[in-house]
Amino acid sequence: MTTASDSILHPFTNLSQTAPAPIRTFAKGDGLYVIGDDGERYFEAMSGLWSVSLGFSEKRLADAATRQLQSLPFYHIFMSSSHEQVRELAEALIARAPGQLAHVGFSTSGSEANETAVKAVWQYNNVLGRPQKKKIIARWDAYHGSTALAASLCGLPNMHSGFDLPLGPILHTGSPHHWRHAKPGETEEAFATRLADELEQMIQREGPDTIAAFIAEPIMGAGGVIVPPASYFDKIVPVLKKHDILLIADEIICGFGRTGTYWGSELCGIEPDILVCGKQLSGGYLPISATLMTDEIYSVIATETSRSGGFSHGFTHSGNPVCAAVANEAIRIYDERDIVAGVARKAEVFHAALREAFTGAEHVGEVRGVGLLGAVELAPEGDPRRSFADKAGALWARDIYETEKTVVRAVHDAVVLCPPLIVEEGDLIALVERLRRSYDRVLPQIRAL
Ligand code: PMP
Repeated sequence: MTTASDSILHPFTNLSQTAPAPIRTFAKGDGLYVIGDDGERYFEAMSGLWSVSLGFSEKRLADAATRQLQSLPFYHIFMSSSHEQVRELAEALIARAPGQLAHVGFSTSGSEANETAVKAVWQYNNVLGRPQKKKIIARWDAYHGSTALAASLCGLPNMHSGFDLPLGPILHTGSPHHWRHAKPGETEEAFATRLADELEQMIQREGPDTIAAFIAEPIMGAGGVIVPPASYFDKIVPVLKKHDILLIADEIICGFGRTGTYWGSELCGIEPDILVCGKQLSGGYLPISATLMTDEIYSVIATETSRSGGFSHGFTHSGNPVCAAVANEAIRIYDERDIVAGVARKAEVFHAALREAFTGAEHVGEVRGVGLLGAVELAPEGDPRRSFADKAGALWARDIYETEKTVVRAVHDAVVLCPPLIVEEGDLIALVERLRRSYDRVLPQIRAL
């Protein structure tokens, strides 16, 4: 058996020499399935890393890459250079973006796109002559990436411990997970009001003229598929506006229909000053991400850079033409197949099936989600203030993988789901049946935890 102690530094993997994680090797993709090197077919209910929206064998994406590789395989967009694919993609993103977003920078990963957002905010405030306005408020439970600054924005302790993070002027405020963090008897509405009050207090404590931006995933993904209370952003946004604090929406998971709307921002009723997207931007096939910003931010940065020689930030593969060509094709497919409306329709079936299978079941604390994002969280006696110390989710996810041949992810005591957007209603029902069969099988072990 191949194990994690082999030659590769596998991310987010137990690398211990004594109990190395078994490595799962995949050889081929086929629609909703990936095929292991043992020939076994696995239903991929995580879309890889929340990314493979159109399944694992979309020929149009492969063809778009091939065509571009054969015409212009590389050109950069540094120092006044450009190419057709990146121009087309910028226009497509701006045309679809919520609110007033009118300019776009490109990177290759979500982490870099978030760093681009933060550096744009920092330069913006420097140019405006308020160099003290630099702090970024992120939230506990958030995931924003793995580079030092992006990991600092994360609100997950494992992203900080071991690396001397967070770095820089980063603060964290409360997570909007009502089930886990509400006080006994506190309604969603009262919980959202409390979070907005706590944000206001943090801003007052730190000094409003020191806070530059607030960054939020509309729906939190890697923290465990956390859907905020309906009025959460309605209460948070006025606090930000009052103190002239920019709103950055991290749509790396939510963008391109995942939530049943084109953007998670639409679902949450927000118009961010900066929007970050990636993953499904290229159907998850090639590394490309984008940081969209308002004309207000761009024009301030542009004023300064005409003096200093430019926005001194970018990556060799920012706007890579092959990645951009695949992203353009993915966006065309989303439009032609009306992927967003399809997600909204299928999501109803998905969540009804999840609720029916798990609400009120023994040791199930919460069934949650929106669009094609779902989670079933286990808890001792269903109590959110206690946990199984993260063993239950992993135990259940392992059984789902091994016995039901289905890839899901464990986050704390939850199993989270993010199937490709092309999934059909029947596939979703079958997925829930598999989860339930596995739950029935592992319940005795969960009782014993
Ligand atoms: N933001 C969010 C919301 C994410 O879910 C992720 C990746 N899971 C990232 C940022 C980081 O993206 P990447 O891994 O491409 O750097």
